[in-house]
Parts: sequence; structure tokens; C-alpha cells
Amino acid sequence: MFRLMTLISVVLLNVSHVLWNAAADQPDPTQFKRGPILVTEQARRIHADSPVFDGHNDLPWALRNHEGTVSSLNLREDQPDFHTDIPRLRRGGVGAQFWSVYVPVSTAAQNSSLTTTLEQISMVRDLTEKYSDVFELAMNSSDIKRIREQGKIASLIGVEGGHSIENSINVLRQLHREGARYMTLTHSMSLDWADSCTDKVISGGLSEFGIEVVHEMNRLGMVVDLSHVSPDCMRAALKATRAPVMFSHSSARAIADHPRNVPDDVLVLTKKNGGVVMVNFFPDFVHPGDAERSLRRSKRKEELSEQFADDNEQADALLRQWELKNPRSNLCTVHDLLDHIDHIAKIAGVDHVGIGSDYDGVPALPKQLEDVSTYPVITQGLLDRGYSEQSIRKILGGNMLRVLQRVEQVAGIDRD
Ligand SMILES: [Zn+2]
Repeated sequence: MFRLMTLISVVLLNVSHVLWNAAADQPDPTQFKRGPILVTEQARRIHADSPVFDGHNDLPWALRNHEGTVSSLNLREDQPDFHTDIPRLRRGGVGAQFWSVYVPVSTAAQNSSLTTTLEQISMVRDLTEKYSDVFELAMNSSDIKRIREQGKIASLIGVEGGHSIENSINVLRQLHREGARYMTLTHSMSLDWADSCTDKVISGGLSEFGIEVVHEMNRLGMVVDLSHVSPDCMRAALKATRAPVMFSHSSARAIADHPRNVPDDVLVLTKKNGGVVMVNFFPDFVHPGDAERSLRRSKRKEELSEQFADDNEQADALLRQWELKNPRSNLCTVHDLLDHIDHIAKIAGVDHVGIGSDYDGVPALPKQLEDVSTYPVITQGLLDRGYSEQSIRKILGGNMLRVLQRVEQVAGIDRD
């Protein structure tokens, strides 16, 4: 016993030695706080009865890339090549999920954005039908409550990018009829009516037609999603909208300076609007060093595509070489994500933060947030940082539910 105790103290001393030395020979108490988070019984209890409402999961596109159909994979079994499967969704306490029906902007050049989007909506419907004991499609906030009461995961459809409507208000209405309950105004490229944060300025925010799209979404009861759009487009949409907005998968720009994140002045406007910013887990948007590397990568990619305009393969090969020489830091952890939640809560308030993981849509994730089973780690991290049980419930899902209810009220849809 004595030998065991001695061994434990030696190990502990060594661990603290390493942590202290890591901080330039100065004892840094935050080093201890930023170690692995252990989920306690208290956190499990809170989490078990605060269903997660995640703003963005790309499983439908991952399935399309896999073999193109829902039936190609058994989601009742562990699927280590994916971030999402049913056992892990259950362990993660997911109660409602916006499944993204993302389609690449390149489909616009082939005039196939709408067809591909409808195929992806079909994929989500196949998912809910194949596993009807686990998932059910939710068309409104009352559906979400009813589906949760049955112990199932409410499944909602989010359209990622205004290119899907092919410049037609009638197509927007039709996508709403098909079940779409949010639309991200752009993806990675600017449209002729809304500017993306990762492309050139066309309208300086939103064009007249862009404002019409926002008003029609308000009328329909579809949430205006401002992830991926330029800061001026965020501001223009916040000015035009009559209902709360969402950022389905974006973090805080003051913490990681990447254009995909939300600047502080927009956080303040989102508070006034009653909306919600759902933090994205991708290290390139979460860890400051990885954000800086990501911008250098984008610059290199642009240079190569100009230099090898006629030879995409050569440009891709050279970009892969650059990536090998300039890898991600691998330093991003759940603590970095918690820093974003803290910042948004500080600037916009705890009523305006949510979770928008981007699972199955990103090539890397922070430590301890590797898949959909890990959400309880966030609950523990928030408890450790002094958040009340009530605030944690809001962040995990309550805020998004409130936004959806308010969007329905503005549309004049009385569901209750
Ligand atoms: Zn995205």
C-alpha cells in the first residue's frame, strides 16, 4: 500500500512538473483547468434531461459520399468512419437535430442545385423512415416536443446555401413545403443576391431580391441562417428580418479570427434580434492558431488555382504538399470551444448561444469532442466554468427552441 501511495505521488508530482514547466516555469493554475474534463454524475443528470438541439450535422452528405443511400449503412451499429451513428447520438443525449441538406455551390454551374437538394431531402426522409423508432421528421416546435416525449430524436431539415433556390421565391416556398426549416443564405460563394464571407463582394450584403428572400422566409416561418455569409450580409439580414435569426454553425471571431465566425458588433445585433449563435466545433474556426493557418491555406489554394487554372490535379497535388508541410496544430481541445461559448455569452448573453457541431462535415475535431457522443463533456465544462443549470439547458437546446417558436409566431403559425 505504501509503495502504491509513493508511486501515485511520484506520478502526480511528475504530472504537475510537466504542466508547470509547460507554462515557462511559472505555476499556471489554468493549465490544470484545461486538462481532460471528467464528466461527473451531476453533469450526467443535468444532461440527461436537457436534450441537445444541434444546429448542423452533415450526415446526409457523408452518406451520399459513402454509397449514396441510407440503406448502405447500418446506423444502429458503431460506424467509426463517421462522427454520427445511433448508439453515439443516444450517448450524446441528442433530442433534436437539424440535418443539413447541403449541396456544393459547384452544382449551380450545372443547374443541378435544386435537384441535388431534393435528393438530399429525400435522404433525410429515408433516414427517418428506415429508423422510425429513433427519428421522426419535425415540421415545427410542437412536433419537436411531441417527438421528444416519445423518446425519439426530432429531425429537422436545414438548407445550406441560397443557391438551392435557383433565384426563385417559388422554389423557396416549395423547399419549405418539403420540410426545410432553415436556409443558410449563402455557402462558400457569393450569390447575386447575398455575399459570402469567403468570396467577393457583389451586393455589399443583400440585394433587393435578398431582402425579399428574408421577408418571405419570415412569412413562411423558416429560420434565416447567417452562417457562411459576409459580416455586411449578416448586418443587412439582421436589419431586414422581422424574426430572430440563427447562425447554425459559427463561432466567435474575437476568439478565432476567421471570416466564418461572428464579429462582436453582430453578436450585439443578434442579442437585440433575439437570435442564437450556435458554436461550430471545427478547429479551423475554434483554435486561434488553426484559424490563422486556415487563412494561409485558403490564400495558397487561391494562388495555385490561378497559377494552374488549366490543371486542377496539379493544383490539388501542390496544395496537399503544402498541407503536409503546414499541418493543423492538433492543440485544439474542448476548452477552446468553451472559450467561444463564454465570449458569446459575455457579449450577447447566455440566451443567445447554442451548439452547431458540423459533425460529419469537417475533417478534424477538438480533443474530447470527437463525435456525437461527446456533448456531455460540454455540460461538464460549463458547470466547471460556473454556469447555472438553467443556463446550461438554454445553451444545449433551449435557446434554439425559443428561436424556432418565435419564428413561428412571427409567421402567424399558431401551433399550440
Ligand atoms: Zn457549412
